[in-house]
This record gives sequence, structure tokens and C-alpha cells, in this order.
Amino acid sequence: MYTFFAEAKSGNFFKITDSELKHLRVCRIKKGEEIGVIFEGSLYRCVLKDINRKEALCEILEKVEIELPSVKLTLFQAVPVNLKTFEFILQKATELGIESVVPVITGRSFQDLSVIKKKFERWEKIIREAMKQSRRPEELKLEEPVHISDINAEADLNILLDNFSAKKSISEISFKGIETVSYVVGPEGGFSEEEINMLVSKGFTPVKLRTFVLRTETASIVAGGIILNLAGS
Ligand code: SAH
Repeated sequence: MYTFFAEAKSGNFFKITDSELKHLRVCRIKKGEEIGVIFEGSLYRCVLKDINRKEALCEILEKVEIELPSVKLTLFQAVPVNLKTFEFILQKATELGIESVVPVITGRSFQDLSVIKKKFERWEKIIREAMKQSRRPEELKLEEPVHISDINAEADLNILLDNFSAKKSISEISFKGIETVSYVVGPEGGFSEEEINMLVSKGFTPVKLRTFVLRTETASIVAGGIILNLAGS
């Protein structure tokens, strides 16, 4: 079932306009067909009742009860030098149910903050598209970029993905009673030793993933998937 964002709700009806209307046309949805609608953080099963040049009207059949992520997960992601990789990570993070992504500037990450700021509109769009595809009703929060020295271990459990010196495997971490988790992932070139020491001294637990050295995007997504599937159960 295709899913769209509604612009407004009136009684038992949603109004779909602008780029979402365009998308509905591209998908060739016909009157009487069922669609999913995301509106104000909830997902609804609807049926298309009417469509004209300016808007589509659909009637609500039911609100869909969605299973929420098992923990609130924050990804501190060093901005990859190849910014396309960051887009891939945002898309996958949205599908997985990661709550928020914080772009992090590190010694070997992408550096230019003004370029990062300019990308935000495009990145928000990627998140919305991924929400539709994965039928995720609650937005992934894309936070303002921070410098690595400004990161703090504020969650119940704080993990540093470290392919160098970590002794502990992610499978050895206990998620018992944990409600919030954060994890930090380095850029293509990895962290410097000083950066790792600084994060460990702040309370981040260095953790390794099996088996070999992963690309930054592989590490982020695999760790996110493991945490969201193991925690809270
Ligand atoms: N060029 C670096 C690799 C960086 S990989 C090197 O030669 O070591 C990018 C980031 O992904 C790393 O900083 C780390 O956060 C994470 N990562 C990659 N493989 C990992 C693994 N096996 N275990 C834990 N973290 C890993």
C-alpha cells in the first residue's frame, strides 16, 4: 500500500495537496483504492474518494496501531567526506526507527558547516520519503551539527563504535532496563586516538562489531539494527 502525507484533516477526511498530490498521480491511485496516510505523527488506512487538479480527498477507514521502537536511539554520526553516504545513512536510520541523528564534525569528517547547513532541506526530504516507504509515522529528528568535543554521554547507555581497541563485542552489552541509547560512529577515515580517549573518558563504552573493518554506513546501520532488535525485549 502506498503512503502519503496529508496536508489537513477535516472530520473523517484528509486533504492531500502539492508534491504529495503529484506523487499520488505518479502512483496512479484511482478512486476507491486504499492508501496509507501519515498525519501529525500517526498512520491511517484510508480510501481515495475524490481527486482533482488541486487536491485529493480520502476517507479514514481506521487509525493503524504501530509498534514503537524498543528504545529511544540517538546516532552521533561523523559526517562522511562523501555526503551521499550521509543521505544513505539517514534513509536507513529512518527505516530502522532511530529517533534522532546528530551530524558530528571530527578531525577526519566532512568539515564545511555551511555546506552541511545547505543540505538540510534535501536531507529532511530524504527522511520524509523514507517515512512514507517504511510507514513510519513519527519523524526522525535531524539535529544541528555538533563538534565531537561537544558530545556527551547523556543516554542510559552510550556506545562508541571502535574497530581499533574495543574488547567488548556488541553482543556482550546488557540492555536490561535501558530506555535510551546513544552510539557514535566515525567517518571513512576513522577516529583519532585522542578522539577515542576523549569519548571513553566521557563515559562512552567502546564496542566492536564482527567481523572485519566496516564502512561507516555499514557500521551505523548494523549497530542500529542490533540495538533496536535487542533492547527493550
Ligand atoms: N579507516 C579506518 C576505518 C574506519 S571505519 C581504519 O582503517 O580503521 C568507520 C567507522 O565505522 C569507525 O570509525 C567505527 O566507528 C566504525 N566501525 C567500522 N568497523 C567497525 C567494527 N568492526 N567494529 C566497530 N566499529 C566499526
